[in-house]
Amino acid sequence: MMVLAIDIGGTKLAAGIVDAGGDILARDEVPTLATEGPGRVLERIVRLAKALLATPGVAADTIHRIGIGCAGPVDRHAGLVLNPPNLPGWVRVSLVEYLEKALGRPAVLENDANAAALGEFRYGAGRGARSLVYLTVSTGIGGGIILDGKIWHGLQDGAGEVGHMTLVPDGPVCGCGNRGCLEALASGPSIARRAREALGTGRPSRLREIRDITAADVVRLAQEGDAVAALVWNETVGYLGLGVAAVITILAPERVVIGGGVARAGDPLFEPLRREVRRRVTLVAVESVPILPAALGRDVGILGAAAVALEAEPI
Ligand SMILES: [Zn+2]
Repeated sequence: MMVLAIDIGGTKLAAGIVDAGGDILARDEVPTLATEGPGRVLERIVRLAKALLATPGVAADTIHRIGIGCAGPVDRHAGLVLNPPNLPGWVRVSLVEYLEKALGRPAVLENDANAAALGEFRYGAGRGARSLVYLTVSTGIGGGIILDGKIWHGLQDGAGEVGHMTLVPDGPVCGCGNRGCLEALASGPSIARRAREALGTGRPSRLREIRDITAADVVRLAQEGDAVAALVWNETVGYLGLGVAAVITILAPERVVIGGGVARAGDPLFEPLRREVRRRVTLVAVESVPILPAALGRDVGILGAAAVALEAEPI
């Protein structure tokens, strides 16, 4: 069985033809150009998909289903995209109906974080496990929960928003309206903001030489011994540790997988994070819960959407 997988993000649109084993037989991506609004973006998605279906060697008539991972929130039952912050103008857009009509196949919609969680579970760092919690730490902090092999959607598909657990009661305002969320403390932009704030104390730091500080600058200078960068990075690991420890204490998943740009820091993130989590989790056998970097890299969007299509009920 092969599926057409479509990944719709605020920056890029990616699509692929994927077989049940997770091999990507054809793929392509184009910029979303989200500011042009839903009409133009939908046309671009259809052009991208049709070009893939016409790839020489791909038997388009054997592709019976489309899997879509889209920046959330989405209403997957109604097939609607519900005004995601990264897709301006997408107010209750009937994505599934539009793509089914344009591409002549049934489509299944899932939010991108849940799709990525299922992709890692099926093809990446979660292979062989029965349960997994996935976090993506980049511009925001998203998450997906897989329990007994299935996405846990929760009431009105609200589950998995690990980025919006409160860690600091009167902390910085979050995009969701709450204060002190994990996302408002440890997302890429939040790390950069805390670094700028730390410079306000007047302590010397090479961060001052950088015009637009990023999370990558903070982790690099922390590794090079810059005291202010190290302070900000250690706090970041501390916040992420609180979040991951809470998730493990509640769900006792077999694995925790962390993706997104901030996770590309590698060992300077994962080694202290594992120590912090072990220190905080007392009632779950935490030494048996690997905390792993995501394994699918840039393919996570396509493989996540493919996994959603392949897991869907038989047509
Ligand atoms: Zn929040």
